[in-house]
Amino acid sequence: MSNCLRSAVRGGVRGPVPRWRARVRKRIQSIPRGASTEDQQMMRRAIELARAAATHGEVPVGAVIYRAGVILGEASNDREASADPTGHAEVLALRRAAAATGGWRLTGCSMAVTLEPCPMCAGALVNARISRLLYGARDPKAGAVDTLFDLCRDTRLNHRLEVIGSVMASQCGALLSNFFRARRSAKRTARSV
Ligand SMILES: [Zn+2]
Repeated sequence: MSNCLRSAVRGGVRGPVPRWRARVRKRIQSIPRGASTEDQQMMRRAIELARAAATHGEVPVGAVIYRAGVILGEASNDREASADPTGHAEVLALRRAAAATGGWRLTGCSMAVTLEPCPMCAGALVNARISRLLYGARDPKAGAVDTLFDLCRDTRLNHRLEVIGSVMASQCGALLSNFFRARRSAKRTARSV
């Protein structure tokens, strides 16, 4: 039996994957195990918030805090507008959720955020006693959940979170890379004028 025929018998006859099937497969791959339909809805909302930030010239990051299907706090990054170094979407969403619930302890709440939290935000999540974190794109320069540090599951700290990473990561990452690409090209144009 020829090699070609043997592999066809073993793996079944494979033609080109139809486009719709590739799309469905890609969508399924972008939803890690453990992320519920509700989590996906919340991540979609976080993506909307991130998109809104970009239209205001802010780095596109959005965060949503929810419990039992109810959004308790949500925010976009607004560091430029507020000139506040702590103006990350996660910190602002935490403040709003705490105000909405009337307490700093956000036990039982989940956060969906489009970018892996930085050390400040991961620390704030631990301090707020958030129960679950879902994030989209990894952050190679500041990620403090999986990439550079593991602050949310460090057993030396007094609280740990369940973490689900890379939820709709390609969409979340594309928002950021498009934003920075546009900003670089605007700077180039400004320099050449
Ligand atoms: Zn942060």
